[in-house]
Amino acid sequence: MKYALIQVSVPHRNVDRAFHYIIPPELKDKLTVGMRVYVPFGSGNRRTEGYVLGFSDTSEVEQDKLKPILDIHEEYRILSDKRIALAAWMSEKYYSTFNECLYCIAPKAANQKMFSCVSLNTDNPRLEELIASAKKRSIKQRSVLELFTSDREIPLGHIKSILDIDNAPINALVKKGILKITQYRTYRGSYNGPAAPANSKPKLTEEQERVIELIQSEKRPVLLHGVTGSGKTEVYLRLIENVIKQGKQAIVLVPEISLTPQTVERFVSRFGERVSLTHSKMTEGERYDQWTRAAKGEIDIMIGPRSAVFTPFENIGIIIIDEEHESSYKADHSPRYDAREVALKLSQMYGAKLVLGSATPSVISYYKTVTGEYALAEMKNRVNKSMPRIDICDMRLELANRNYSVFSRALKAAIADNLKNGKQTILFLNRRGFSTFVSCRKCGYVMTCDRCNVNYTYHRHTNNLVCHYCGKSIALPDKCPQCGSPFIKYFGTGTEKIEQEVIKLFPSARVLRMDTDTTKRKNSHANILETFRSGKADILIGTQMIAKGLDFPNVTLVGVIAADLSLNMNDYRSGEITYNLITQVSGRAGRAEDDGRVFIQTYNPTHYSIVCAKNNDYLSYFKEEISFRRIMKYPPFSNVFYILLTSDNEEKTINAANTMAAILNKFNRSKSFERLGPAPAVISKINNKYRYRIIIKCEDEERLKAYVLYCVNAFSSLKDFKKVSVSIALNPNYSI
Ligand code: ADP
Ligand code: ZN
Ligand code: ZN
Repeated sequence: MKYALIQVSVPHRNVDRAFHYIIPPELKDKLTVGMRVYVPFGSGNRRTEGYVLGFSDTSEVEQDKLKPILDIHEEYRILSDKRIALAAWMSEKYYSTFNECLYCIAPKAANQKMFSCVSLNTDNPRLEELIASAKKRSIKQRSVLELFTSDREIPLGHIKSILDIDNAPINALVKKGILKITQYRTYRGSYNGPAAPANSKPKLTEEQERVIELIQSEKRPVLLHGVTGSGKTEVYLRLIENVIKQGKQAIVLVPEISLTPQTVERFVSRFGERVSLTHSKMTEGERYDQWTRAAKGEIDIMIGPRSAVFTPFENIGIIIIDEEHESSYKADHSPRYDAREVALKLSQMYGAKLVLGSATPSVISYYKTVTGEYALAEMKNRVNKSMPRIDICDMRLELANRNYSVFSRALKAAIADNLKNGKQTILFLNRRGFSTFVSCRKCGYVMTCDRCNVNYTYHRHTNNLVCHYCGKSIALPDKCPQCGSPFIKYFGTGTEKIEQEVIKLFPSARVLRMDTDTTKRKNSHANILETFRSGKADILIGTQMIAKGLDFPNVTLVGVIAADLSLNMNDYRSGEITYNLITQVSGRAGRAEDDGRVFIQTYNPTHYSIVCAKNNDYLSYFKEEISFRRIMKYPPFSNVFYILLTSDNEEKTINAANTMAAILNKFNRSKSFERLGPAPAVISKINNKYRYRIIIKCEDEERLKAYVLYCVNAFSSLKDFKKVSVSIALNPNYSI
């Protein structure tokens, strides 16, 4: 073969393909597909990283234009055939460049960190003799030599610090042929937490036994629906153990927020140094090194968030996705991959098991157990514990009884009780996706767009209500359309306000607050949790940061301050998000001996997501949710493509959005694509840039993608709108 096809790592669509390069003679025997190489690229012949994708005997490029490969980066394959196929699949599925996908699959090469070890040069036949001369002549050299026995190898740095010397005596001994220095590669970012004692394996519960058996006999991916505290992690540990026994490897995905020392230690104490982890706070070098360890087979288990799905194991036995409902599994920048979909693809390519676990499975995943695509495994009981008791507080009644506080009387009494008994309390305020909706404090009625069944957003400057799905706008009513009460207004409360009120009501309580303001500094997140765990505070007030995964034995009371905040966000997923949050945050209560209690405050006490969460009744919630999705044609019954247009001129942005809509209309002759908007985006202005969005719905993902990409291209070629930027997102995490 004369030429290699090289994909150069240049992030531009125009060069997102393989180029022909001459293979120089010295590389002929070494070069394989999937290796990382350096090539000259572009007019300046810049030294550029690239991947060998294939070979060829011929090239259509003129001979004198062809350049030779410069050298090989690592002398082993970075990309297996399967990984190259995965990149191709991703690039197609997530409408991104092949290069962007390769960046995910193989992290950018960082330099390697080496360290030197010193040992006796036992190959030298005159060694003894030389040692004896050297010991006589130099005190420093003698002290060095006294550290060594025949098979001892000591890091260079240790010798220098033990003896407080510089390199000179060691170099002299090397020169004399007495010592030799060997270079080793050191891996940055390896787990170096406390080596926890090997924990004893608990005897499995009946539910755990049954579920493990089911998962191991099942060919399909399995959705493990287990209530909080049902022992899902123990199930994962046993499944992994079996996979390791077969000489295979395991990937465990957990949301970044749940990647606590507690979680990691459970794995490390069972599997020791064969476990590694990745997370977003690691440096490029650390990530590259751990990735390399996996590629070289030095570890068998990788734990990490979304990106850990790309761990280069070539003999994957199982991929586990914990808290599978978490939106963080979907990337919010290009390539907008979904780790659950990538995991499914990988499990098919490698014949690996796929397990998705959650106490609150996503509607999309659970629906797949209905259609038979996934198998369902269930654990309905906590290990040796009962579920916490949940009470709903109807805030309309509080108003009627002249209680204007943010706390219902029942919650207030429960907090007081808990303080008296020396137990801890979590107060939870969900502000995720929060937008200013308008509701009636007397009857709970929420102003909702009749076309989209999505709540109106209040626009303060115009005093208008705007539907951010279809763009419809109405004036703010002065009376509730349902009961006529004048108490109809927008909803606003924050964690600080809650904190102030707690301090006012319970002056002796020790209070911690955890939200984006109090966790800006490094480690502040962990510090707050540690303070709470150690019992130095009575009440923890927080946002969704505290909803998941925390296991505090002394917490017996959880208060959800305003379930309406998530219930009334202008997103078709508000019911799902509310059910998940209430269930997850309730799961923090009563994990040890004492029973847990939960109070949910709301103006919508009959909403299915609240009632079902109270009754711990996932199935009824799912039935309501799925029928709503079916009627309104929301996922999983359709795909939703968001087109976002932004510019620094509002009129220009509106014009552009209308033009885009006209183009979309023109190419929608068969009327198979449903369009909503243009409408202001959820956040209609950021940094003085105006944002408008259009939503396109269609059942067929492939057709929808082709159609939207075609129309966006047509729009982008227009000269009038050069200054308007367009971005697109298919089924994004949050409404844009
Ligand atoms: P989940 O992940 O479902 O919320 P965990 O795996 O964290 O639940 O288990 C909850 C608690 O029960 C943990 O403290 C765990 O150590 C304990 N546990 C799990 N399985 C068993 C078992 N078979 N016997 C005794 N304790 C168990
Ligand atoms: Zn009303
Ligand atoms: Zn609407």
